Amino acid sequence: MNLARCPYCGLPDEPGTLDHILAKSLYPEYSMFTKNLVPVCEKCNQKKRPRMWNDDGTRRFINPYYDAFMASPFYAIEILPPYQTPLFRVAFPNLSDADRNICESHFKRLQVYSKIANSCAERSRSLCWTFLPEVLDNTLTVAEMRWLVTRLERGERQGGGPNTWDGALYRSIIADDAVAHFVVTVPIGPALPE
Ligand SMILES: [Zn+2]
Repeated sequence: MNLARCPYCGLPDEPGTLDHILAKSLYPEYSMFTKNLVPVCEKCNQKKRPRMWNDDGTRRFINPYYDAFMASPFYAIEILPPYQTPLFRVAFPNLSDADRNICESHFKRLQVYSKIANSCAERSRSLCWTFLPEVLDNTLTVAEMRWLVTRLERGERQGGGPNTWDGALYRSIIADDAVAHFVVTVPIGPALPE
């Protein structure tokens, strides 16, 4: 497990607390079992409630030790117009229905959706500002932009694994033709800095 970020939400900060995957209050017999302890950020630890399963037996939270889908990019970011003030939506296109349900429940209960959307808004702004001189000169092509963003994406994967917020954003900028075209042609990206 990469300990440079929270495995529950992806916050790029060293996790400061330990979560009991199976809550201490309900499963005291597992409270010292190492595979039951996950270093997570304080917010996730506060938000996570003791119950791991719903009444129908489906799971509410992901398990970073055993959920194999976490070894690859398991969520994607959809960038929705208007691109000047885009909406960033998280989807789970490659998961089974069962795994998608767990992820949706986890992301909703731990408020991961808003964390990712806020981070994407900030990162896409700074990216547009990086490209601004070339965009103003009309010298940035989609191919060049994709090449540059692909390098950033690779750096994210090497440094933080397959599911960093920035890495997911970069993949969607590279893959979405309309977004890529917008990035290279509109002089000011998603909103001016404050
Ligand atoms: Zn977290």
